[in-house]
Amino acid sequence: MPSTAVEHLDVLIVGAGISGIGAAHAVQTRTSRSYAILEARSALGGTWDLFRYPGIRSDSDLYTFGFDFRPWREDESIASADRILAYLQDTAREHGIDRRIRFSHRVVAARWDSPEARWHVDVERTDTGERVALTANWLFGATGTTATTGASRRASRAGSRSADASCTRRRGRPTSTTGAAASS
Ligand SMILES: Cc1cc2nc3c(=O)[nH]c(=O)nc-3n(C[C@H](O)[C@H](O)[C@H](O)COP(=O)(O)OP(=O)(O)OC[C@H]3O[C@@H](n4cnc5c(N)ncnc54)[C@H](O)[C@@H]3O)c2cc1C
Repeated sequence: MPSTAVEHLDVLIVGAGISGIGAAHAVQTRTSRSYAILEARSALGGTWDLFRYPGIRSDSDLYTFGFDFRPWREDESIASADRILAYLQDTAREHGIDRRIRFSHRVVAARWDSPEARWHVDVERTDTGERVALTANWLFGATGTTATTGASRRASRAGSRSADASCTRRRGRPTSTTGAAASS
């Protein structure tokens, strides 16, 4: 039976919320590494797309919560979820990050292979049920705090270990002024 080639990327970012978008911007502006964002849902924005209850808004001001590379320009500093979502969508589109997001791709397992020095990442398509295998040198967990599945927690922990390893290997990592740091 012919073997199917497994796609390899330098960096895999798990999650297309504010953290994943911030991490993606850092990767594409500070490195020449190939990367993709794997997002379980069919839309970007994470928290700000998921929750739709009336009155939802930020707790802190968007002048500091927003990206340093695309400052928040609106008059309202405490913003409603729809304005934050629009800001994230616009940011991702303007910087071409939206084209790097693979929607409906839930990471269900990740395993570090020391001899190969790469991550083996198992993905389930949430739209078709298809399984996809990928490999990466660096796995960045931007899975947030609202994901509650065991797979999400495993992916998040895997990302944390990867970030630690990456710091050792590369003496540096992408950073963001947002919650990305909390996931890494
Ligand atoms: C009402 C409300 C107000 C808030 N206000 C503030 C505030 O003012 N300031 C502040 O700092 N924080 C605030 N927060 C917290 C906020 O959630 C975070 O700051 C930030 O939005 C989290 O972004 P994130 O990208 O890290 O995670 P998320 O927004 O949770 O995004 C994570 C993404 O990862 C995806 N994902 C998870 N697991 C997997 C997987 N296994 N495979 C693929 N994709 C996966 C999810 O689908 C999601 O899209 C608020 C939260 C709420 C609910």
